[in-house]
Amino acid sequence: MTSFGGQEPMRAGDWQESKLRKFLTIAVLCVVAAGGIAAAIYMIFFAPTDRADARGRTALHFKCEKCGHEFEMEVRKYSDWAAKNKPAKLGRANCTNCGGELTGVKMEKCPQCHGYFTFEQATKAAAKAGGGAEMVCPHCNYDLKKGMAPRRGR
Ligand SMILES: [Zn+2]
Ligand SMILES: [Zn+2]
Repeated sequence: MTSFGGQEPMRAGDWQESKLRKFLTIAVLCVVAAGGIAAAIYMIFFAPTDRADARGRTALHFKCEKCGHEFEMEVRKYSDWAAKNKPAKLGRANCTNCGGELTGVKMEKCPQCHGYFTFEQATKAAAKAGGGAEMVCPHCNYDLKKGMAPRRGR
């Protein structure tokens, strides 16, 4: 009786520990996977722009939501400005044409067709294209993640 009573809680403890370990492993893997995707998106669109950006560009391309004006800003200049002004939204700049506050949306250049597009356009195009793509060029349907991290078996 006493030996049985003494064994039972120990077994339950072991079971709980292995379950907890499994849970922690899965949780860590999920965080790593989500972090990887977030980092990739962040690298493309919102990376802190010290020198050149992740892909060696020295100028950023913006399009004003208000007047449609497209303009470029040096990475260094944008970095200085952003550090001082702390834009409410990263990847935004004041329009150099109409003076709109943070109406300039950062645009990306497609490595395939060299067309410009915004983050929103790319995610919308990806949703339309389907097939698990997260960001797709709205002009030529190029899968933008393909250019960053070559995937095997596709
Ligand atoms: Zn404008
Ligand atoms: Zn394209």
